[in-house]
Amino acid sequence: MAEKKYVVAIDQGTTSSRCMVFDKNGLPVVSDQMEHAQIFPKPGWVEHDAMEIWSRVQDVVRNALKKGNISTDDIAAIGITNQRETTVVWEKATGKPIYNAIVWQCTRTEDFCKEWQKTPGWEQDATGQGKVKDHTGLLINPYFSGTKIKWILDNTPGSREKAAKGELLFGNIDTWLIWNLTGGPNGGVHVTDVSNASRTLLMNIKTLKWDDEMAKFLDVPIAMLPQIKPSSAVYGNTIPGGPFGAAIPVAGDLGDQQAALFGQACYNKGDTKNTYGTGCFMLMNIGETPVLSKNGLLTTAGYSLEEGKCIYALEGSIAITGAAVQWLRDNLKIVDESPDSEYLANKVDDSGGVYFVPAFSGLYAPYWDMNARGIIAGLTRYVRKEHIIRATLESICYQTRDVVEAMNKDSGVPLAELKVDGGAVKNNLLMQLQSNILGAKVVRPVVNETTALGAAYAAGLAVGFWKNVDDLRTNWAKDLDFSPVWSDEKKEGGYKEWKKAIEKSKGWVDG
Ligand code: ADP
Repeated sequence: MAEKKYVVAIDQGTTSSRCMVFDKNGLPVVSDQMEHAQIFPKPGWVEHDAMEIWSRVQDVVRNALKKGNISTDDIAAIGITNQRETTVVWEKATGKPIYNAIVWQCTRTEDFCKEWQKTPGWEQDATGQGKVKDHTGLLINPYFSGTKIKWILDNTPGSREKAAKGELLFGNIDTWLIWNLTGGPNGGVHVTDVSNASRTLLMNIKTLKWDDEMAKFLDVPIAMLPQIKPSSAVYGNTIPGGPFGAAIPVAGDLGDQQAALFGQACYNKGDTKNTYGTGCFMLMNIGETPVLSKNGLLTTAGYSLEEGKCIYALEGSIAITGAAVQWLRDNLKIVDESPDSEYLANKVDDSGGVYFVPAFSGLYAPYWDMNARGIIAGLTRYVRKEHIIRATLESICYQTRDVVEAMNKDSGVPLAELKVDGGAVKNNLLMQLQSNILGAKVVRPVVNETTALGAAYAAGLAVGFWKNVDDLRTNWAKDLDFSPVWSDEKKEGGYKEWKKAIEKSKGWVDG
């Protein structure tokens, strides 16, 4: 058999779906991308149409293969990476979802979560310690899939009984896509990987198996849950009638942030990456033991290359970072395009004493305050729009520093270097500010599409396209690094002001 040339990654994100083809050097050959609708039925509710997502995924696969003139004979394997936590429940017999996909950002289960935190035996303190953390590494929060599944079952009459009989299936978007790619109602495989399963509130972080006590409390029948597999393994083959038009192994599955960790070659304990997109997600490789955070971070499955084994990560998730720049663009209309934020913020020397806490949907890590709301503090008549724009970029960096502080405390080792990726890292001012505010080196790789790359790597490893992680490490190359230039006094002075602003934003909403 001729040697294969490519691995295909399907990157199904919150706003769009992408198909990227990578060669053996981990370089992108061709890609295609399409957006899907964001559905907002009520304030704070966010949904996607899972059928539309499946349709867009098929389109981008067909388009990318056509554009790059890629023969299916040359494809070694397919890897999936996905927006995490987003929840789909569908009928096994028809492949029809019984409700729209409930997106990770959706806050509809907030009231349930607030009650849950007060339930005897399940109490959770301000740093997130409690039974849920012990079982899952996570916290009681609407962000994760568990309460979203419960909501769908509670609100669709008869569904819980059907789910218990195995007639309804649950999946995050990875599971939904793999099931459809491998045949759907006609024998599709119902699987997920540890990284996705670890975001459901239903997987035990130590055993890497579904947790009976969690499933019982959330009233989710285990029969509807997918089989948990390593992130790198052959799950099944695509059906020839699907978008690939051939039988190709689907062999990689990683939640988007864990895929970025993998694509950034963070294979050693202590290696850390931060992804700058709609939100920011910092993950630190903590090795084979699931250390639980005492400082507001999540413990999550990083990746698994072998059944029963897992490399864990500490994660600091921040909900609103690039989305704050979008808000300047769409709501305040003071930038035309997100990249213009760099040029405009460069027109002033500093933020003019302004601090912007973009807690639009509460604060995630390390504060986890569902009642926080956004504030702009320190306004005087001196302040111009450029100061607000600069304060917005700084807010991304300060929120990241909050997470780094927590990571330093949990790991006991100060961060020496941060690998960065995601749409916003092209902004050089943002990267320089990040380095100044952290007092640490910030390193940007040549291939910025690390999420898709990580999924491709996982798939390629499973079929021997790449031999081992050393092969992948040699593919990683630096584009640019940024070193801190602020004095300690300036750095710490600014951070003190930021913490003051955070205190003002906390607990803004009653409840
Ligand atoms: P996601 O995968 O979360 O959809 P991307 O990685 O595509 O996001 O990054 C897009 C986000 O980054 C948007 O929120 C956008 O406002 C922000 N962004 C993109 N380019 C820049 C830039 N040059 N400066 C600041 N923010 C940017």
